[in-house]
Amino acid sequence: MAASSSLQAVLIPVSPFRQNCTLLFDKADKKGVLIDPGAELPRILAAIAEHKLKIEAIWLTHGHIDHAASAMEAAKALGVKIYGPQKADKPLLDSLVETAAGYQWQDKVQNCTPDYWLEEGDKASCGGREFIVLHTPGHSPGHIVYFCAALRLAIVGDVLFRGTVGRTDLPTGNHDDLMRSLREKILPLGDEVVFICGHGRGSTIGHEKQSNPFLQNL
Ligand SMILES: [Zn+2]
Repeated sequence: MAASSSLQAVLIPVSPFRQNCTLLFDKADKKGVLIDPGAELPRILAAIAEHKLKIEAIWLTHGHIDHAASAMEAAKALGVKIYGPQKADKPLLDSLVETAAGYQWQDKVQNCTPDYWLEEGDKASCGGREFIVLHTPGHSPGHIVYFCAALRLAIVGDVLFRGTVGRTDLPTGNHDDLMRSLREKILPLGDEVVFICGHGRGSTIGHEKQSNPFLQNL
């Protein structure tokens, strides 16, 4: 079997919420994507330059400010298109500037209009690897997860964390929807699947199944 290319992830915690803006790219040719550029674009661009990356697209997991507030500016700076989330997050993306005022956000913010909304089953490519899109409402109605079956790797945004799950007390959150997304979309991906999440360290689905209190009675 030919040596397969492999992806590398660089996490850049941005914004007061320390959201894991993620650079995901092929180790060999340095082509990849920028995921959830929520704030601090100069730091993100510096990391892209430092790793000599060729960013080909911006992926959004959902429309919250700490994930999407710098997306338009990043797309312009990099000359790339914005993919995702699912269109039910449009109201969140349309009101980022308004939301920023409520948080006294220090960073530059623009409302975001993605070039492509993504739906369940859509495919997205990163560094020559195919990811499938899962629509996982609950934390936000248009939240999506990107899953690479070949690498057993998932980008889960704010659906699942190490030891906890996404909050659902924000205006467009829904706890039952989140639990259904976890039960029907995330857990079936398989215990060995490694995930990168929107805040803090990642984990595996198997580890969370065993130890995460929110997954015990699903
Ligand atoms: Zn969020």
